This record gives sequence, structure tokens and C-alpha cells, in this order.
Amino acid sequence: MSRNFNAATEEEILQGKASDVYFSRSLKGMSRSHRDPEVVAEFTVSGPLDPWIMLSGLDEVVNILKGKEVRLFSIPEGTIFPPRDDSGIPVPVMRMEGKYSSFGILETAILGFICQSSGISTYSARVRRELGSVPFYSFGIRRMHPAISPMIDRASYIGGADGVSGIIGGEITGTTPVGTMPHALSIIYGDEEAWKMVSPVDGGRTVLIDTFMDEKFAAIRAAELLKDLKMVRIDTPASRRGKLDSIIREVKWELALRGHGDVRIMVSGGLKLENLSALVKAGADAFGIGTSIASARPYDFSMDIVEVEGNPVTKRGKFSGRKLPMRCERCNRWKVVREFSGDLRCECGESMKNVFTKYIESGELVSPYPNVAEIRSLAQSELSRHPMSDQEKWQQ
Ligand SMILES: [Zn+2]
Repeated sequence: MSRNFNAATEEEILQGKASDVYFSRSLKGMSRSHRDPEVVAEFTVSGPLDPWIMLSGLDEVVNILKGKEVRLFSIPEGTIFPPRDDSGIPVPVMRMEGKYSSFGILETAILGFICQSSGISTYSARVRRELGSVPFYSFGIRRMHPAISPMIDRASYIGGADGVSGIIGGEITGTTPVGTMPHALSIIYGDEEAWKMVSPVDGGRTVLIDTFMDEKFAAIRAAELLKDLKMVRIDTPASRRGKLDSIIREVKWELALRGHGDVRIMVSGGLKLENLSALVKAGADAFGIGTSIASARPYDFSMDIVEVEGNPVTKRGKFSGRKLPMRCERCNRWKVVREFSGDLRCECGESMKNVFTKYIESGELVSPYPNVAEIRSLAQSELSRHPMSDQEKWQQ
């Protein structure tokens, strides 16, 4: 087929054409052997072994498996899990059961769905935790291939972003996309005319103030000119940046001195997790965060067969047999156990609960899949169980 864009179509992904070729070659070999056993496959994280990871992308896994003769168990999307339990056993986050031929070819796509999305939602969740109640928005889709912009916005939003910049991202998250004006408008029309062109949102305007002028004088001019000025956005180029926190402090001071203390400051442009706290301290009221969230390092999930026709077997370096991820609701301790039906007590005395939910049985969705708002709400309550700790060592 001829392609204008270097992206797989939905049809190609569903048919397993976006997969590594060795799966389809193996399946051809299998069809000659006439043996197609029932297998159990588990998904665990092989790296990086960060303190915790927020699972996302499960919606796409569910959608690709609909109509396939498989059973799917997973921890719910938005759950925060440790890659290893208390005793160092890899935590299974998803389990698929069925004939290998019914899902083997989809391994590449399924891993891709959760690896990248979970990387983004985890980074976004860390930003959320760092910022507390200060709002931030996902501004990074321009740095990534447009075919995946909806996934980026969705994962960022689930992780904790207050809104997204993409039009499709807005659609799938059920939010009004966030955006002010591009520098192009000021370059073409000059600041003042451009500012007047910006349409007010919720009764106020947000304008860019770093196109031509010093931020302080541009902010004062904008506040004098626009009666409905709600926010100024600082997107200062790196070459002029100096100390961004000092610029914010100064702009705030000068605006307040002239009776515009209610004008808020939004900051964007190359921001990373480690820059944020100094800027909040300086008085930044909101953030647009792009590349660092959109390009967050994917987690290396792997899929391993752990059981063939009821017999525990797996590759070297992995733990065979089907397992359950158990969690204590009181102290948040995780424990991986063999499948069982009894009552498991945590060291703290509370009973531990199985985190797996069944999503698909014989290709049918077992219960309605939650919408993005519900997933985000679960994700945020999960996040509140993970207070900031100096002990955390992050690799991404
Ligand atoms: Zn406990």
C-alpha cells in the first residue's frame, strides 16, 4: 500500500501487521505442527525498576483482544504498582489465557500500548505530585508523531494533567482543549493587535508576553491594554532565560504594584520535573509541559508464557506458574502469590486483596470499560497513596 504518513492503520494493528515478523513466522510453523496448546502469559516490567509505575494503555489492549478467543485479567488502568513486590518477585500486571495462536501475533502491539503510555502517565503523575494543586497542561504533542497525539494527551491527563492541548486529545478525555496563541500571531500582527485577537476563555484572556519585549514591560502593557487579561504566558527562549524564577517574581511584583495582582502567570517551554518547584516558589500559577511528558521513557514490559496446558513452565530468569498480585489496602504492601482462594493477611494485620480484574472472557468484554474521567479519578486516588519520599530513586 502507498503511505502518506509513516503510521500503521488501525486495521494493520488489529491484524498483527504492526508486529515483529518473527511472530507471524512462528505461527506459520505452528500451523504445520497441529499442536496449539492453551497457554497463560503474564506481563511484568523488566526495567527501569522505578519506585512505582502507573499503568495506562489498557483500553487499547482490551480493544485489540475483543473478539479473540482469550481471557484477559489486568490490574485496572490508572493503578500504581511497584515493578517488584516486597520480596523482589516481579509483579504481574496483566495475564492472558488462551491458545497461543489467538494472541501471539499481537504481542508487539500489546506491549507497545502499555509500555509507552505507562511511561507518560507515570511521568505526568510525578509532575502532579510535585505541583500539588498548581495546574499543569499537556503541551507536548508537537514533539511526537501526530498519529499518537491522542494517546499522549490521554496518558498525560490520566497521570494528572489538568487539560491537554490537542483537539483529539480533548475529545477523548472529554475536556476542552487548552491553548492561548502561537508566537506566529504576534510576529505577523505585532503584540498588541495579536493580543486583541485572542478569544477570551471563561471570561478572560491569556496572552504570550515573550515574543518581542522584556517579560516585565510586555506584561504591564498587556495588563493596561486588556481589561479582561486573566493570565500571561511566559515561554522565554532558552538563550534569554537567565533565571526564570527571578523573571516570574519580578513580573508578579510589577503587575501587583500597578493594581493587576490578579493576573496569573503561566510558564512553558522545555520544563522538566526538576525545574518545577523553584518556579512554583517564585509564584508561577500554571504550567504548560511538553517534551518531558510526551517523550517520557517507556517502561520495558515483557510478556512471558508461564504455563502450557496447565503445567508451570517459563524461560530462564522468569517465575513460572500463574500468579496473583495482592495488595494491602491499609499499608500499600504488594505481594505476589500463586493462585489461591484463601485469605491472605498482610504483615500489618489487614487482609490483602487481589488487584486483578477480569476484563475479557472468550473475546467478550465482561463489564463496561471505565471512561477516561473515571480512570483519572482512580489514578489520582492511587497517587494520593504515594506521598513524596526522599528515598525514591528514579531512573527516568
Ligand atoms: Zn498491610
